Amino acid sequence: MSDDERLTKYDEFCARAYTDTRLLAGTRELILAMAWVMQRDPDQPAPGEVFPRVKKLLGPASRWRPDGRRSRMSELIEADAPRYEPPRQVEQAASQAFCEAPRMRAYKPRGYVPRTKPDPDLIQPTPLHPRPPTIVHVLPGYVPPPEPTKQDPCGATGHTLIVEKDPATGWQTAHWFCRRHLDQAARVAEQVREQNELAPEPIPNRGGLLGSYFKADFATLYGKHCDHWVAPVYGVCADDWPVPGVDAVPVRPRLRLLVVGGSA
Ligand SMILES: [Zn+2]
Repeated sequence: MSDDERLTKYDEFCARAYTDTRLLAGTRELILAMAWVMQRDPDQPAPGEVFPRVKKLLGPASRWRPDGRRSRMSELIEADAPRYEPPRQVEQAASQAFCEAPRMRAYKPRGYVPRTKPDPDLIQPTPLHPRPPTIVHVLPGYVPPPEPTKQDPCGATGHTLIVEKDPATGWQTAHWFCRRHLDQAARVAEQVREQNELAPEPIPNRGGLLGSYFKADFATLYGKHCDHWVAPVYGVCADDWPVPGVDAVPVRPRLRLLVVGGSA
């Protein structure tokens, strides 16, 4: 390959990396460094020496790790490991969640009622001037939200979580219930039981973008740089994952790469 061709290829590669909105800043940094080493590095490292060179270029890790052996490259590879991350509502603490069952009764504001009648023998407090009415500052055009009716969700603090799995994608949806709605929780748990048993492995929704740019044994690479990682059944390249309702991503040319050397 001539220098001109090599330069054009590298230029197109960079343009693609900068316009790909799926890439996080760190992943883009890694991909661009790998492409530069493979196409433009004056030292021309051998195919198996790409990762040690990239590791040297990217420098030490940005955060301290107890094992003390991580590099920035290793960190970025770990961040790009293909995986399924459930939504925040599934992961969050019960105290942060709101019950989604229907309300028991409509909200009714109750005025203050003194619990006991005042004792006539007590000295009555000195009568004071009436307080001025409370002023609430709002933006122009603000309309207070309607008070909850019986059609609205309960909204009390969560207690029990029921996870529903999508029959097509295996992706999870959280259903939270409060202590007063445990019967509803049991009903929903029974409703989703069979569906959850039949649900497929979740399609990954994070990472896997190195495989979109390079051809290599990424399952081995991710396994080497992640502490607890299992390869998804859908493959390690984000382009290969099925996207429900969206056409398959076209296969793009990738740079061939050998995964050897470059310890974590
Ligand atoms: Zn509730």
